[in-house]
Amino acid sequence: MASLSTSPARTPVRTCIGCRERAAKRELLRVVLGTGDDGRPAAVPDPDGTAPGRGAHLHPTTACYDLAVRRRAFARALRAGVGLAGAPVGEYLAAGTTAENTAETP
Ligand SMILES: [Zn+2]
Repeated sequence: MASLSTSPARTPVRTCIGCRERAAKRELLRVVLGTGDDGRPAAVPDPDGTAPGRGAHLHPTTACYDLAVRRRAFARALRAGVGLAGAPVGEYLAAGTTAENTAETP
């Protein structure tokens, strides 16, 4: 009878700005235009997906981050200047992949 219920609800799909693969939105890290440590415009991570404004989506891996940097994809996706820094995202990925495992300090 309800055979259609076996298919999942329509999952939002976004394209990764690094590898250009499509993936479920929840598997991607949202990136928005924000301010870096130096007070200049930068691409910043928005893991909650709550920041207003235009966002871009990226696999939360350093590989896709590197691709996005090389393509200048942050600037293009966020409609910012070509000099847009993505460092906050890189730092987030470098530190954040094991964020749940912060009990290593003695
Ligand atoms: Zn990717």
